[in-house]
Amino acid sequence: MFKSLNIDDSVPENTNQVVETEKVKCLIIGSGPAGYTAAIYAARANLSPVMYEGLQPGGQLTTTTEVENFPGYSQGVTGPVLMEDLKAQAERFGTDVRWGIATKVEFSGPVHKVWIDDKKIIESEVVIIATGATAKYLGLDDEKKYAGSGVSACATCDGFFYRGKDVAVVGGGDTAAEEAIYLAGLVKKVYLIVRRNELRASKVMQERVIRTKNIEVLWEHQTKGLIGDGVVEGAILWKKKGTPEESEVTIKIDGFFLAIGHTPNSEFVKDFVETDEVGYIRTIPGTSKTNVPGVFACGDVQDSIYRQAVTAAGSGCMAAIDAERYLSEKHG
Ligand code: NDP
Repeated sequence: MFKSLNIDDSVPENTNQVVETEKVKCLIIGSGPAGYTAAIYAARANLSPVMYEGLQPGGQLTTTTEVENFPGYSQGVTGPVLMEDLKAQAERFGTDVRWGIATKVEFSGPVHKVWIDDKKIIESEVVIIATGATAKYLGLDDEKKYAGSGVSACATCDGFFYRGKDVAVVGGGDTAAEEAIYLAGLVKKVYLIVRRNELRASKVMQERVIRTKNIEVLWEHQTKGLIGDGVVEGAILWKKKGTPEESEVTIKIDGFFLAIGHTPNSEFVKDFVETDEVGYIRTIPGTSKTNVPGVFACGDVQDSIYRQAVTAAGSGCMAAIDAERYLSEKHG
């Protein structure tokens, strides 16, 4: 019954091409720790999962270097190796891992439709969305130049490497406050680079930032560029950019942490799946269930708070179990 191929004349909007349709039992979209863990559980529960890897196969961890906080790797592991291990484990139980990007969905009938690369429609009774979130960057060339060599968007992942050093955190929201406070417990000094003269973070977090002795808030500062021979050694900032008092300031730092928000990758489902105002998919608390029966979400696309590989993996497990129970209840 599943994985049969036929030609369907349903087409995504604005195209006239005939699209191939494939029926599967369980579709997983996204290949970070959440997607692969969902795949391991779904495959072992005989759901024959098909996974589309998405834009960044392996997810955000493939852009980090050493991962030291994923349980089971006592000596640490690189992000890409961890993801290869998870992939191999998912494939070992029969997950069909494929290249491709989900571009559109239609979740209005008993069977859910997902368009892959606008060329193919997958029809599936259950869909697990594990598309993650993308950290926002300032858009400076130097962020790419020093990626993995001093530039990071995750203090919990990389802070440990800067013990006893000076670092900067960019942003003024709760994430920036939390990351600055976390880093302050590890490093010598944290500069918090805030573009306005106030923090957006909640009052309690603002107070904690101000109370932390080794955090220096650089109010009304913006980043012009980074300097260093192969690795970050400093940042050049504008103070009061665009005003008559504009000036340039150089700070000496070894780490440059972005904390200006994340964008959950939920755009393609937003017409059917409920999200919060930022775009995080809303799940029923304590489950991976979305507002659409048979559609489940796990990992960073539904988590604005923890955003860790291990919490993503845990929620991937929940999604596969919820999917398996949904199918058993449906088919008796
Ligand atoms: P936010 O959108 O709340 O804050 C982003 C911050 O980055 C703002 O201070 C913003 O400045 C600044 N920023 C954005 N773009 C730039 C730029 N180009 N240059 C310099 N600064 C920039 O994102 P967060 O990730 O902090 O939080 C997202 C949501 O998650 C919030 O609702 C937050 O409350 C929640 N959260 C909750 C936590 C908790 O409860 N423990 C922990 C972390 C997050 P400006 O203020 O000027 O716009």
